[in-house]
Amino acid sequence: MTARFPLMIPFEDARTYVLARCTRRAPTLTPVSDALGLVTAVEVIAQESIPPFANTAMDGFAVRSSDVATVPVQLRIIETIAAGHAPERAVGHGEASRIMTGAPIPAGADAVVMVEKTSVSADVVTVEAAVGEGHHIRPAGDDVNLGDLVFAESTVLTAGHLGVLCSLGMNEIETYPRLRVGVISTGDELVDDGGVLAPGQIRDSNRRTLISLLTTDGFVAVDLGLVHDEEAAIELALLRGADQCDAIVTSGGVSMGDFDYVKAVLDRVGDMRWMQIAIKPAKPLAFGTIGETPVFGLPGNPVSSMVSYELFARPGLRAMMGVPDPIRTAIQGVAAEPLARRPDGKTHFSRVSASHEDGRVVIRSVAGQGSHMLTSMARSNALAVLPDGDGYVEGDAVEVLLLN
Ligand code: AMP
Ligand code: MG
Repeated sequence: MTARFPLMIPFEDARTYVLARCTRRAPTLTPVSDALGLVTAVEVIAQESIPPFANTAMDGFAVRSSDVATVPVQLRIIETIAAGHAPERAVGHGEASRIMTGAPIPAGADAVVMVEKTSVSADVVTVEAAVGEGHHIRPAGDDVNLGDLVFAESTVLTAGHLGVLCSLGMNEIETYPRLRVGVISTGDELVDDGGVLAPGQIRDSNRRTLISLLTTDGFVAVDLGLVHDEEAAIELALLRGADQCDAIVTSGGVSMGDFDYVKAVLDRVGDMRWMQIAIKPAKPLAFGTIGETPVFGLPGNPVSSMVSYELFARPGLRAMMGVPDPIRTAIQGVAAEPLARRPDGKTHFSRVSASHEDGRVVIRSVAGQGSHMLTSMARSNALAVLPDGDGYVEGDAVEVLLLN
């Protein structure tokens, strides 16, 4: 097959090439409030225990378990302990302290009886259920002990991780920085002012889709604007991007057309490789650097630009942010209908809808697979990976990339 289509680079080779040049940025100290989705550059070692003190898991009464071995039994209530307040009295023999969830266990007590198993009259509580030592007590360090390794280096911080950092009293953490990624769309035909279209004009959609993809993936998208097919303007936008951003994503001007000036400029100011990759859509890709700044020259066709982002820019940018497994994991689905294609030496990434049905991921094609037909992207939630050949028939196992 390769002999028939000799000029194309295999998909995996192209992605490997890109990933090898997308190195992590230097770590920085980041406020926990800004760290969602970032990757830790250090091990997190607990400087505090969680919980910091033994406390009750229930509203009820702190007692000596030996006092409630035989029930019912009456105990004298000596104080009420609310969450956030220190106990003032030790619980002696025949005594109990009323206690609220999260409040510290008072000295002397070694168990809590939930309020539902008690009745109160004046300052006497009748305990109706026997409880053993430690009952309903959450010991200090039950979740994390001082000195524990809490998170390994290269942990992607989710909501739960950030909560743990707050529980440990950490306001800052050493992470790889959130990437600032500049987006430029290029093309003389493009307008973005919402006005009436002159002959030959179309509206710029790629800048919005790319900015949205970047935002979804946790990067800071920097809108570097729409640039017409003029070398000077393209050069200015690219150099500005290289100066202000950690990476640049462009759309358009990387194919074989006469006015593909992005190519000319990048060749002059950057160190680029122009690739024809054995995939459909998104065959052309320019990738390289301006100085230290990686540049992803994505194709202009709207679907191609989104697919190229998914297959190359997203993994590369995630790797730059320190994500240990930057490539999206494909899952296996079942074709609910034929997913036909013709042999052409390329892997096809077909827009599909994936839905969970009877414990399986069921795949259906969406209409309009042309690389200019962006509505298919809007209607799909996955890309089916169709290896070179004749495609799949109903019931076949299909690899899919779930996009959301
Ligand atoms: P190019 O890669 O510049 O040759 O463009 C390929 C196709 O994509 C052409 O039909 C362009 O008009 C279209 N195109 C390029 N950039 C955009 C954009 N930002 N938004 C919508 N369509 C675009
Ligand atoms: Mg163009």
